Amino acid sequence: MYLILLGAPGVGKGTQAKVLEAALGIPQVSTGDMLRAAKASGSELGHRVAAVMDAGHLVSDDIILDVVRARLQAPDAAKGAIFDGFPRTVAQAEALENIAPISHVVALDVAEDEIVARISARYSCGACGKPFNTLSSPTTRADGRCDACGGDMVQRADDTASAVVTRLKAYADNTAPLVSFYEGRGLLRRVDGWGDPAVITERVLASIGRESRSEPAAVKPG
Ligand SMILES: [Zn+2]
Repeated sequence: MYLILLGAPGVGKGTQAKVLEAALGIPQVSTGDMLRAAKASGSELGHRVAAVMDAGHLVSDDIILDVVRARLQAPDAAKGAIFDGFPRTVAQAEALENIAPISHVVALDVAEDEIVARISARYSCGACGKPFNTLSSPTTRADGRCDACGGDMVQRADDTASAVVTRLKAYADNTAPLVSFYEGRGLLRRVDGWGDPAVITERVLASIGRESRSEPAAVKPG
């Protein structure tokens, strides 16, 4: 099973990819990890990757696709893989079709205002670094200070509502053609990505006709 996960920043895609890796028994492969691994391997391909990255250039599609091809030949990927953050463009998606038979593309859908609320709720203590979330794990102090050390709360510039809206717009602009591409292939499954992560995992598994790795693939849930 070759599965692609799509989801805007802040939808919990990374968390889902990790859980799915265990549930489906196939590795999560992300471009960043694959490029770092190729570089570290010292292979001929690794040297090509290193030369481009060390020069501060963007790695070309040709090299990325070679890296993906090499990664999929590893024994742990014999039964499939979960792609996270790849492909990013229709050109990459078309090339990927020659490397791996993509069986499912799952888009984690969350309304923009929900993502903004989720991300802009993130704060941390400026003194001790303890993370807080005004929605899910607020400080227990009534004055809003850190309940571990009394420090002031700070928010990352990336996490302000306006910064999140800008990131989401860039994501939507880049991903819309990819979503249309996989819709046209009949591979796209839209999953409601709002709620308890364990419930979202169940929805993802149901959308691809699987409940867990211990179940035969032919058995449909329900
Ligand atoms: Zn603190």
